[in-house]
Order: sequence, then structure tokens, then C-alpha cells
Amino acid sequence: MTVSNSQRMLLDTQLQAPHSNPMLVVAGPCSAESEEGVLSVAQLLQHSLAYRNDLQLLAFRAGVWKPRSKPGTFEGYGVKALPWLQRVQEELKLPVCVEVALPEHVEASYAHGIRQFWIGARTCGDPFAVELLAKRLAQCPDLECLYVKNPPSPDLPLWQGAIERIARANPKRIIAVLRGFYPHPGSPYRNAPRWDVAIDFQLQNPTIPLLCDASHIAGKAELVPSVAQQGLQYGLNGLFIEVHHAPQKALSDAKQQVTPEAFLHLIESLPALSNHYPLEPEGITPQIEQLRHQIDAIDEQLLELLAKRKNIVQQIGLNKRTHGLGPLSTARWKSHLRALLRYSANLGLNGRYVAELSERVHRESLRYQIVQREQEEHPPQPDA
Ligand code: PEP
Ligand code: MN
Repeated sequence: MTVSNSQRMLLDTQLQAPHSNPMLVVAGPCSAESEEGVLSVAQLLQHSLAYRNDLQLLAFRAGVWKPRSKPGTFEGYGVKALPWLQRVQEELKLPVCVEVALPEHVEASYAHGIRQFWIGARTCGDPFAVELLAKRLAQCPDLECLYVKNPPSPDLPLWQGAIERIARANPKRIIAVLRGFYPHPGSPYRNAPRWDVAIDFQLQNPTIPLLCDASHIAGKAELVPSVAQQGLQYGLNGLFIEVHHAPQKALSDAKQQVTPEAFLHLIESLPALSNHYPLEPEGITPQIEQLRHQIDAIDEQLLELLAKRKNIVQQIGLNKRTHGLGPLSTARWKSHLRALLRYSANLGLNGRYVAELSERVHRESLRYQIVQREQEEHPPQPDA
């Protein structure tokens, strides 16, 4: 792969302006299948991306022990592949990252100088396995980076629990990887990206970078670029992509791996990177700014209405108490909710959203009334 003059000029400009928030990249084959294969892909990635200071090649990924659904399929070359990866690290100065599922995987790869590991989806879904790994990783003093993929089901606490366990191993850096969720029938993708789960993850873990494993989400090489782009647009901090020297001949995940050339093309065709993976949003347009002012004003109005509502709820509470009635009237709540749902349908609002919101507001009304009763029944005693 050669770099054209215009590309080089662009890259030189980028070199002069260091990027404060580079896109993070992990790339390499699904599995390490031959010494020449891994070295050729690693070399291409290393040489071509070295110019880009708007992205950071964190590691060369390669599976050595492959978690396969069915026995009898290719399960990785195991320990035999580790010296190949050691050459990548030593000759190219490119850190390598392998998947570990058992303590002995950590032991063998660590002994071969590997300091970055990823926890795969299936392992992430098993707290016992994660705990065993965390204990073993805690005995590795100089780890560089640990990647934790999401579990197969969209279970955020399970994913976060795995991260917490792994964090106890005290590596310098933990990075999460969105690889999608199954099952995903009737979709062009192998796994559902569930960007909503990714957003929840980011909201709850603002300091943990999240990478988009567009390969395992897409499941097909031709869909990888658009999934990668979507991931970056949703604010993910980089990519975790399978790149193979000859994807059609790959022994695992042949359909979804891309050639090094296709991968570099994907990277080159990402629109202005600085707008696409901000940890803190940059590049906000005046229109967005203006629309956000409108949102701010509406949110303030919503709060004012809620305060007004609280006032009325308290008056109702007093009245109910005077007439010996309890705070909750199930019949009134049910008919009110039905009316709200009918009304929300006319407004084009999602029924589940309105139901959840109304239930929350109702619960808060009950709480006001309960607190109010307690205060009246047990008024604070003046100091004697
Ligand atoms: C992989 O990255 O090759 C892999 C097995 O991933 P996952 O755990 O996401 O299936
Ligand atoms: Mn794979």
C-alpha cells in the first residue's frame, strides 16, 4: 500500500498539529494463523498509521485461543502462535493484544511479553470466569491495557460488573468494547449494535473509553465501514477491527474480516475525525447551539410545571388525610394513565416512554404525600 503525495501532505499537516483526543484503534486478524500473516498485517498497519497523529494505534489484535460455538472448528493455534506475536512486538515495536479466557492463557501470553489482553463476550458473561481471570491478572505487575467486550446479552450491570472485577487487577488502563448483542433476527448485522446501550454505558462510565468492534457487529466485511462510522457518530472513542491478510482464506470469521488495504481506506474515508469521537463534544455548530438553548428553556418549563404539580399534589394530600383517605387510589391512577397514553399517541410520543415517565411522576407524588403525613403525625418537637 503506497501513500499518495496529497495524502502525505495531509498527513504532514496532521503531524504538525497534535490531536488532543486521538481516535483509538485496535486492529488485526480474528486469529493468528501464520507467522508471515501476522507480520505482514502488523507491518502494514504500523507503517500506514504511523503518520496519523489524529489516531492512536493502541495494539495489534490477534486471537490465539478462539472461543468457538461448536467443537471441532478451528480453535486457534494456542501457545504455538505466541512467538509470532512476540516478533510483532519486538521487531515492529507494536504492542499486541490477545483474548484471554482462562488463567493459563494469561500466564502463557504474559510469559511471551504480551501486556494487553481482551476479555471476549462469552467470558464477560460469566462472572466466575471473570473473577478467575481478574485474580490471575492481579499477579501481572506491568499490564498496559485491558479491553472488556460487552457480554452477549444487553445486560449493562453484567458488563460493568466484569469491568469492576477486572479493574481490581489494577491495570493502567481499561477500555470497553461494544461488539453487539444477539440474537438479532431480521437484521443485516450479525449482532445488534444497540447504540442505546452504548450511550447508557458512556453516561455511567464517562472515564472509560468505548471502542466499536464493527467487525463482530457487522458480520460482513462490506458492512464494516458503515457500522464503524455510526459508532463514531454515536460518540464511541475508536475502533476494534478485524484485519486479515487474505480474509477469504481465514480460519475463523472469514466473512467479516477486511484486508489491510480496505481497513486503511476505511480510516481515510472517515469524515474529519476531530468531529467524530470527542470525549467532550467539540465541533458544535451554531444551529446545534441555538437548538440546545430551546431545549434548555423547555426543560426549565418542565421543572416549573413539576413544581406547580407538587403544590397541587400536597393540597390533595391534605384533603385526603382530612377525609380519612389513603394516598394511593389505584382506580384513579389506572384511568389517568390510560387517558395520558391516549393523549400521548395523538402527540406522536412513544407510549412506553410516557408510561415510564408518568409512573415516576406518580411515585414521587405518593412520596410527597407520605412524607407530609409523617410530618403531621410526628411534628418536630421544639427543644425543651
Ligand atoms: C474476537 O474478537 O475474535 C471474538 C471472539 O470476539 P467476541 O468475544 O466479541 O465474539
Ligand atoms: Mn472474530
